[in-house]
Amino acid sequence: MDDAEDGDVILHEYGHAMQDSESSAFGHSSRYGPAAVAEGSSDYWAAVMSWRSPHTANEDDVCIFDWDAIRYGRFFPRVQPEKSGRRCGRRTDVNRTLDEATARCPRVPFGGRYAPDPHCVGEVWSTGLWNIRRSLASEGRARARDMDQIYLASQFMYTGKETLKDAANALLCADEDLHPKGRPGDCRGEHYAVIHREMTRRGILH
Ligand SMILES: [Zn+2]
Repeated sequence: MDDAEDGDVILHEYGHAMQDSESSAFGHSSRYGPAAVAEGSSDYWAAVMSWRSPHTANEDDVCIFDWDAIRYGRFFPRVQPEKSGRRCGRRTDVNRTLDEATARCPRVPFGGRYAPDPHCVGEVWSTGLWNIRRSLASEGRARARDMDQIYLASQFMYTGKETLKDAANALLCADEDLHPKGRPGDCRGEHYAVIHREMTRRGILH
């Protein structure tokens, strides 16, 4: 199976291209934190684009690389068929905390040591973003699009040492920039409560 046959793969890689152009320090970093944020963000972007396509259900959106994953099972035994029979390379509804993912994700070589797979830890981040989007979408499709704008704006603030916590705080500040409320500069915009609550659930903010 050719990776390039899967629309989710194209969208995921396009997500990385946006990251590179919005913050080259982030895009070109070889550190672990930026890698986990980048992989999760790109999975989120693939889910968003699926949501924006006609006639998709939530399962279509959160199941990433489901065409590519038809053959993944041979190489990545951890990809199990879903109840529906479809396989997902990754998902954006993995409701783990950051600590749980760090403990359970397979360890892979990274920067001369072994570390939890940043793609797997990234699922905590993509799930956090997706849950926020779902909360906002329940108030209407325009609200869900607010989340995409907030997410894209937040990436301009990313640094070469970005952590998931930094990225969650960038999301809060981008929300305030786009949807100001209360005291200027306190990064508590209109969607502060929903963003902060979800990022706390994921163990990214405390
Ligand atoms: Zn990637």
